[in-house]
Amino acid sequence: MTFVPAERIRNVKKSATRLLFDRAYPGSINLGLGEPDFPTPEIVRQAAISFIEEGRIGYTTNAGLLDLRQKIADYHNDGAGPRFTPDSVCITNGAEEALFVVIMALAGPGDAVLLPNPAYIAYPAIAEIAGANSSFYQMPAEQGFAFNRESFRQALTGKTKLVVLVSPSNPTSRVIGRDDLQFIAGCLEGSDIYVVADEIYRELYFYERPSSISEYYSRAIVISGLSKMMSMTGWRLGWAAGPPEVIRHVTLLHQYASTCASAISQRAGIAAFTEEGRKATAEMREELRRRRDVMARAIDRELKLPYVTGEGAFYIMLDISRFGSSEDLAMRLLAERVITVPGSAFGSEAEGYLRLSFSIDTALIEEGIRRIAKGLS
Ligand code: PLP
Repeated sequence: MTFVPAERIRNVKKSATRLLFDRAYPGSINLGLGEPDFPTPEIVRQAAISFIEEGRIGYTTNAGLLDLRQKIADYHNDGAGPRFTPDSVCITNGAEEALFVVIMALAGPGDAVLLPNPAYIAYPAIAEIAGANSSFYQMPAEQGFAFNRESFRQALTGKTKLVVLVSPSNPTSRVIGRDDLQFIAGCLEGSDIYVVADEIYRELYFYERPSSISEYYSRAIVISGLSKMMSMTGWRLGWAAGPPEVIRHVTLLHQYASTCASAISQRAGIAAFTEEGRKATAEMREELRRRRDVMARAIDRELKLPYVTGEGAFYIMLDISRFGSSEDLAMRLLAERVITVPGSAFGSEAEGYLRLSFSIDTALIEEGIRRIAKGLS
């Protein structure tokens, strides 16, 4: 029986990361992971257990628990930008749902959406489902995937409805600095363009804490969540935070997609915004910094290839352009029982690179790099 899916998903493909994971041998070392491998902090787990034991686990309001929205608003009120209130926040099933409902609420058929290249694979897929036209600004590989003002300015057109920023970036780990955020705000000032700022990795930084575009530009919707900063990927807790008139519409879509985020995860999430929760994030940050250095040293020693390390998140972009296509190489490396993600999955600009994640134990990082060395020799 042939099944013809709705037009809007005909061109949407399964992600390259998932395809690779499906083909990997058991016992492979996974340098393709997009999640921290730390246990969820004790304080969060205990909060969930207590709530479950209370016994009454019902729906919450569509936008989420008021207490949690207040904490999230306070969390975003650290800069000079507009003041967030609980009405500025819609709590979703992970940042992924936040991206989905925000892009669907802001862009429709024929609208022009401007995305970074390379970047997280969900953006072009969601834009496609929304029926919008994607175009790209380059974060050039030859400049270490740094934000490029010229490329951004040239890519903006009179038709641009929405711009997506991701900082720190998946896949490059690069941060868009304060000056560049101010430049972006300057380019957009006076327009009707909205910015969707994916800040899911903001708390995982190695130098200065990254700034947010919301400090400089009011038509900004910040996407964030607890997946990375609290090692809570499986709890599915994210949010969109922005102007209340936008969030009202985002919440309407979210209502029909999923009613509300899990009440258990929301109640537990409140505990993330405590002194103890912040300390847990700081510890993860320190450990990730150590692992980044371990991976960089192992690459220098075993591979002697160029690579890009960023200012946050947990990825290194390894330059494998001498070895052919990144997809073929990632496939070949599966035979060595090591999983990597080809740069091409994130856009043309990252072709010639593999994305390596250092969010695993250091012994596995070392062994994973040795296996890559074997596969390349
Ligand atoms: N945004 C980026 C840049 C990501 O890398 C990810 C997950 O890998 C997400 C959003 C989705 O995060 P969540 O687990 O909160 O849905």
